[in-house]
Amino acid sequence: MNRLTGKTALVTGSSRGMGRAAALRLAQEGALVAVHYTANREAADDVVTLIEKDGGRAFTVRAELGVPGDVHELFLGLESGLRERTGTTGLDILVNNAGVMGGVKPEDTTPEKFDQLFAVNAKAPFFLIQRALKNMPDGGRIINITSGLTRFANPDEIAYAMTKGAVDQLALHFAKYLGPRNITINSVAPGITRNDNPVFGIPEAVEQMAQLSAFNRIGEPEDVADVVAFLATDEARWITGSFVDATGGTLLG
Ligand code: NDP
Repeated sequence: MNRLTGKTALVTGSSRGMGRAAALRLAQEGALVAVHYTANREAADDVVTLIEKDGGRAFTVRAELGVPGDVHELFLGLESGLRERTGTTGLDILVNNAGVMGGVKPEDTTPEKFDQLFAVNAKAPFFLIQRALKNMPDGGRIINITSGLTRFANPDEIAYAMTKGAVDQLALHFAKYLGPRNITINSVAPGITRNDNPVFGIPEAVEQMAQLSAFNRIGEPEDVADVVAFLATDEARWITGSFVDATGGTLLG
């Protein structure tokens, strides 16, 4: 499959988890992928190595999101990597995936924690989109990873769910704004999806989490990556401003 040959993509937080899977998937489709990370350089390098082994093209970009100057730093690395490989700084696909969870009870949520969650999960995606639009040609794609927790209650994640609800708004309002440029923007909402969290190594916990899905299993990063890849292709040109439930039927109740 080479549905993205000639395209360039940035996937934030793609050193691990579903960002990693999305980077691999977009590269399989032929895109040149910027693999973004903040701390795990080795993991990001491994993603690039894997992509190259598979005949694809990728490079790493480091920037901590949620701190002053974050978008500027990320775009310095991104534009230099793109220019080096393509001769231009055009960015066709932006996947806002990097995010942090809260895991704190309502009574323990401090203003500092609240601000940090919003800075990384909501403010950074908004300003990344604002900046990326300078580089994005007509027909571009923006995909924001939000969460099923905007529609499924979890009292330990109220502030986190608020950040994701805010990001869902990006798709609605930006879709109208970007329609004239044929740029689509959509939310993809995963359910519980395997990552490095030790909880996924506890069989009883996994079994319990699996029961939330209509398919009686937890999500794998690739389950979400396939949805991201589809939305990035021309086949998804008629979908914009939407909330794509990629929770494996968790929201069915
Ligand atoms: P992981 O926790 O596996 O990985 C997080 C990624 O984001 C890493 O690449 C990490 O970089 C990067 N990152 C984290 N904080 C920052 C920061 N401040 N600045 C820059 N990069 C950062 O992610 P998941 O696959 O679990 O989640 C991906 C997205 O999906 C997130 O937005 C999450 O909220 C959402 N989601 C996750 C669910 C799940 O069950 N896993 C369910 C629903 C939504 P580094 O490796 O360098 O630390």
